[in-house]
Amino acid sequence: MAGRSAYTKKELEELRKRLIEERAELESQLTTIEETSFAASQSDLSGEVSFDEENADAGTFTFERERDLSIENNVRDLMGKVDRALARMDEGRYGICSRCGKPIEKARLKALPYVDLCIKDAQAQARR
Ligand SMILES: [Zn+2]
Repeated sequence: MAGRSAYTKKELEELRKRLIEERAELESQLTTIEETSFAASQSDLSGEVSFDEENADAGTFTFERERDLSIENNVRDLMGKVDRALARMDEGRYGICSRCGKPIEKARLKALPYVDLCIKDAQAQARR
């Protein structure tokens, strides 16, 4: 009953590749969001229009900026998870639940390679 990691080298390499791809994808999403909101804030600063005229637009702008921010936060959050998963892989702790220390279900990791909790603990955490 040794097997610290239930994964073969080949499986780990595949999961690592997916994590790296995922990270690149998140990075490009982040760049897009940043470019969009930069452009938006530039155009917001450019014209010194009176507030009354711009009120409706300002409302839309705030809403869009807030939406961008929440997407941005989600992307950053996910990126952090991917980074931590890669770090765990380097330390040989990948695929082990960070709460109960049991192996995380393979099917779960194949669907979401960056998770660090088994299904049971993830559900327990979501309920809190
Ligand atoms: Zn667990």
